[in-house]
Amino acid sequence: MIVTESEEQQELRSSVAALAQRYNYVDYVLPKSRRHEPLTELWSEAAKLGFLGVNLPEEYGGGGAGIYELALVQEELAAHGCGLLLVVVSPAICGTIISKYGTADQKQQWLPGLADGSKIIAFGITEADAGSNSHRIGTVAKRDGDDWVLSGNKVFISGVDQADAVLIVARTEDATSGKLRPALFIVPTETPGFVKTPMEMDIIEPDRQFALFLDDVRLPADALVGEPDAALAQLFAGLNPERILGAAMAVGMGRFALDAAVKYANERAVWKEPIGAHQASRTHWRSARSRSNSQS
Ligand SMILES: Cc1cc2nc3c(=O)[nH]c(=O)nc-3n(C[C@H](O)[C@H](O)[C@H](O)COP(=O)(O)OP(=O)(O)OC[C@H]3O[C@@H](n4cnc5c(N)ncnc54)[C@H](O)[C@@H]3O)c2cc1C
Repeated sequence: MIVTESEEQQELRSSVAALAQRYNYVDYVLPKSRRHEPLTELWSEAAKLGFLGVNLPEEYGGGGAGIYELALVQEELAAHGCGLLLVVVSPAICGTIISKYGTADQKQQWLPGLADGSKIIAFGITEADAGSNSHRIGTVAKRDGDDWVLSGNKVFISGVDQADAVLIVARTEDATSGKLRPALFIVPTETPGFVKTPMEMDIIEPDRQFALFLDDVRLPADALVGEPDAALAQLFAGLNPERILGAAMAVGMGRFALDAAVKYANERAVWKEPIGAHQASRTHWRSARSRSNSQS
């Protein structure tokens, strides 16, 4: 499919690229990644320029554009080696779900902060026994008067240390059928009974992943996002942007890797000429480069 970007989208691309060029991979991103320190300075600057809330509604301080524009932001950052994982989670998944299904109060409370990057909501769906299969989620939310009480475990949840809240995917019991169905809850990270433990990961990446333990976490009635009956639709309203943003990040990282490889092949000389001048590697890089250019 050939996509022709509007002038506005092209301008957005070059503005993001101009910002990303100032956050050098070798000097800034890599050392931070090795220490598992978030790219806070880049996050703040990108947020101030309106890049992180580009998909969120204008009435809450967002850019009023769509997921394409947010994906474009993520791709350009990643193409310069500084993709932001929490863009996938906070404005893409959580921002989309709250914009579409949140109550008026939830929108007012969270969207302006998500749009200007001053607030972060992490997203917690994965469990040890329910990775790809969201129908097996074991975190359960029970009614107690007006309150909800959540118990369960999550794994691999990104950026909980940076987040103000986590959008937790749990299940509630249908009063008539007794069947469990998914439901989404905004859980502030300071809520009693909410315990986060950093996980030891093998990837070199700025943001940390956490195991979560929800030990009878008591939440007010308004912690539930939208209607319990529409929960599956709400969930996919967030998971679809996640896929798109994840793909955009991967495309950007591919461009970054290819550019680095071409640069290396042009500089590295072990005989008389750079290795890229030899016929086999030259043909290989050229065709890979032209494939990448025609896709971006
Ligand atoms: C760096 C990182 C950050 C993460 N951040 C978050 C986060 O912020 N929030 C969150 O909720 N989760 C997060 N995750 C978890 C991630 O979403 C899960 O790893 C993912 O959902 C897959 O679950 P799993 O690892 O249990 O794999 P499994 O479900 O065990 O799947 C293993 C493999 O089998 C394949 N597979 C499974 N079932 C089928 C099937 N029926 N047919 C064909 N193939 C199948 C899968 O595609 C996959 O390739 C993160 C993971 C990582 C590594």
